[in-house]
Amino acid sequence: MNIWGDLMFRQVSDNIYIKVSNSFDSNIIYINGGEKQILVDAGTGMYPDALNQDLVKIGSSVEAITDIVLTHSHIDHIGGVLPIIEASSPTLHLHKSEGEMINSGDMRLTLSTTFGVEFPPMKIDNLLEEGQNLCIGNVCFKVYSTPGHSIGSICLHMEDQGILITGDTLFPGGSFGRVDFPTGNPQQLVASLKRITEWEFVIALPGHMNAITSNAKRHAESSYEMARSMFRYR
Ligand SMILES: [Zn+2]
Ligand SMILES: [Zn+2]
Repeated sequence: MNIWGDLMFRQVSDNIYIKVSNSFDSNIIYINGGEKQILVDAGTGMYPDALNQDLVKIGSSVEAITDIVLTHSHIDHIGGVLPIIEASSPTLHLHKSEGEMINSGDMRLTLSTTFGVEFPPMKIDNLLEEGQNLCIGNVCFKVYSTPGHSIGSICLHMEDQGILITGDTLFPGGSFGRVDFPTGNPQQLVASLKRITEWEFVIALPGHMNAITSNAKRHAESSYEMARSMFRYR
């Protein structure tokens, strides 16, 4: 552990690493896409030096990051984009329903004011859509719109590796993201968790808590069961 309590990047597969957070930060996923180097989510950005040091340990650095894909725009995922923009001007990818808000200067969905942070305007370069194939360098993701935690929450499916990146939609052990923030919707969350149970994957990398490194579909099924009994939707 570094002095801030977060864990180092841990290797998930040949080219994928996850830095699990023990703090308010989201988890941060690093993917080596050959000519492109990708982060999925960026944490709060409160500890940019620690992130850089941890990236250096796995052969990268903040300056080397070319792309950041955001699972949604909450401050604990998007805040860390700011120091990286200064270092490397990465291409930013976010679902269009939240990206269009940010591009129009509406930062409400980031919840930054709720947490007392002044968040400057930001330009999302690539507005993602349901069902598209997002290829960055030699890595491709299937983008799924999975609203419920927030309107623009997505999952990223790496079908060839059996890996699903779940953001704040699915967490391990039957848990799932909260639905009480703006644009949160319990009925949509249950429907999104049901969709997740229909995809093929073995490993799930969530936005908080530990990576699920085996039998991830079983976790998805129990999260779906928990959510639909809690919210009484099917
Ligand atoms: Zn989060
Ligand atoms: Zn969130």
